[in-house]
Formats: sequence, C-alpha cells, structure tokens
Amino acid sequence: MFLEGKRALVTGSTSGIGLAIARALRAEGAQVILNGFGEADAIADLCQELGATHSPADLTDVGQIEQMMAEAGPVDIIVNNAGMQFVSPVEDFPVDRWDLVIALNLSAAFHTARLAIPGMKARGWGRIINTASAHSLTASPFKSAYVAAKHGIAGLTKTLALELAQDGITANCISPGYVWTPLVENQIPDTMKARGMTREQVMNDVLLAKQPTKKFVQVDEVAAVAVFLCRDEAQNVNGANWSVDGGWTAE
Ligand code: NAD
Repeated sequence: MFLEGKRALVTGSTSGIGLAIARALRAEGAQVILNGFGEADAIADLCQELGATHSPADLTDVGQIEQMMAEAGPVDIIVNNAGMQFVSPVEDFPVDRWDLVIALNLSAAFHTARLAIPGMKARGWGRIINTASAHSLTASPFKSAYVAAKHGIAGLTKTLALELAQDGITANCISPGYVWTPLVENQIPDTMKARGMTREQVMNDVLLAKQPTKKFVQVDEVAAVAVFLCRDEAQNVNGANWSVDGGWTAE
C-alpha cells in the first residue's frame, strides 16, 4: 500500500481505462477523486466501492476544471485520462467537434497541471500521468483532431518533465494501442461510414490490423503502468511516452 496518504485525481474515471487506473491506485492505498459522466446510481456505487469522491466537471469547460481542482484540494497524483474521439474526413470535420476534442484531450491536461503544480512543488512530490495514445506517435486517417491532440499531449508532457525535474515531480505519458472500452466501441459506426466498411471489417481490418498481437489491450495492463510510474523506483522515469500497444508503434 505504497500510496497511503497520497491523493489521486483521475479524470474520465467513470469508465474504461480511467476506472481501471482509479481502482489500481486505490488498491495501493491512494485516496481517489473520480471524474467523468455516467448514471448517478452507478457513480454512487463506484464512490462507495473506492471510498472516493466524484467531480462531475465537464473538462471541455475551463471554469468547471478550475472548480473541480479547487474542490479537490491538494492532489499528489493527477491522471489526465478523460478523452473523446471523433472520426471524419478533415474537409467535413465539424468545427465544434475539433474544438471539443482539443479541449478535452489536450487543453484539460494543461489546466489540471497548472492548477496542481504549486501544491506538488510545495510538498516536493508529484506525479502527472497523461493517457496519450499510439496516436501520439503515429497517425491514422479521419482522426485529425484526436491525433493532433495526442501528439500535443506528448509534447506537453515532455515540457512538464523538464520544468519540474528538480521538484520531485515527474510527468509521463502512457500510450495504449486499441483497448476494448466504450470509446473504441462507439467509434465503430462512424468508421464504418467514413470507410464504407462493415462492423467486422472495422474490427479486423482497421482496429486490430494495427496491433501486431491481433488482440485488444486490457485496461488493467494500462493501469499497472500508471501504478509503476507512481513508485519511488520510477522517480527517474520522466518525460517518457510508454507504449502499451502490442508493438503497433514499433513498426
Ligand atoms: P471511455 O469512453 O471508456 O472513458 C472516457 C471517460 O472520459 C469516461 O469516464 C467519460 O465519462 C469521460 N469523459 C468524456 N467526456 C468528458 C468530459 N467532457 N469531461 C469529463 N469527462 C469526460 O474511454 P477510454 O477508452 O477508457 O479512454 C480513456 C483515455 O484513453 C482517453 O484519453 C483515450 O483517448 C485514451 N485511449 C484509449 C484507447 C482505447 O483504445 N480505448 C487507446 C488509446 C488511448
């Protein structure tokens, strides 16, 4: 229970990868603050399971991020994980969708970091962990906003790592390949439309085509990396972009 006494805010933790990270940090003793959308009853159950509190902040809204951070109090670990996808050719990409994807997948991490850093510096310890993506290292067609945001968060992470290197704070990305979560499931219909494919073709020829293992990554495998990054043994892992993609970006 090496995280006893530490407080961890995990954004987008009502589902998928974020929930797995929240559970894994809790299992090591961290006090967890959840964030994300969902049904009130399900969120209440999660809060009870994890002894956690929950912020309903919409992280595309800077004012709501500021309120969340003020209510959260001192945070030792911030996991910027909330994300969304939108699939469309660039010339048809709705401008409001572009703005939302960039706001959630990139700008939100800047805002939580800038608000958490003073407290981390004062305590001389901190971990900033950003859920990036294989798309922080490589591109796919029809995902312009997502790829731009994920490349952006990899750059932001490196900058944070350099700025905070002497303060006991590390900043790293975890970059999963395709993980079977609602985010992946929900993009299948739009990908079918954009590429003129069946569901089965999207699964095998688009998603798993990229992954040399031909299998989806599991959320617990991503969470295990986040836990490691919080350990003292990881104090010199800083500014890294840690792939969990079955070898996709090794190609
Ligand atoms: P998910 O859809 O299961 O979970 C997304 C979470 O973000 C949910 O808790 C949701 O409520 C929350 N969220 C959505 N919009 C929000 C908003 N405006 N404000 C606050 N919270 C919001 O998705 P996931 O697959 O677990 O994705 C988590 C992260 O992992 C994302 O950043 C995603 O880009 C990244 N990722 C996912 C995969 C994958 O294959 N699933 C691969 C690489 C990277």
